[in-house]
Amino acid sequence: MAKRSRTERREAEREAKKVTRVRMKLAALEPGGTPDRPIEVVSASVIEPHAASMACAACGEQTLRVEEHAADLPRRLRVVHVMCQRCGTRREVFFRVGTALPS
Ligand SMILES: [Zn+2]
Repeated sequence: MAKRSRTERREAEREAKKVTRVRMKLAALEPGGTPDRPIEVVSASVIEPHAASMACAACGEQTLRVEEHAADLPRRLRVVHVMCQRCGTRREVFFRVGTALPS
């Protein structure tokens, strides 16, 4: 009995991981998911609030915390590393500052 429920739990965990992978793939297709499709913003100052207000790609909760904000100057991109405080999933979100130059 105990053995069986452990197996079922493992199965469920495997399923959950599969779902997460699919969600992460879908998130990569949305704006900000790749360097080729950055989210356009008018000012660098809105990048972090914007990233923090997005839904987690894995669990869908708006519990992201900005861990790092790096500039990719050659491509005029900003890369924001976020971590979900609920499920711990990390991802990168790409931004491009449109009119205003990064200070
Ligand atoms: Zn999450």
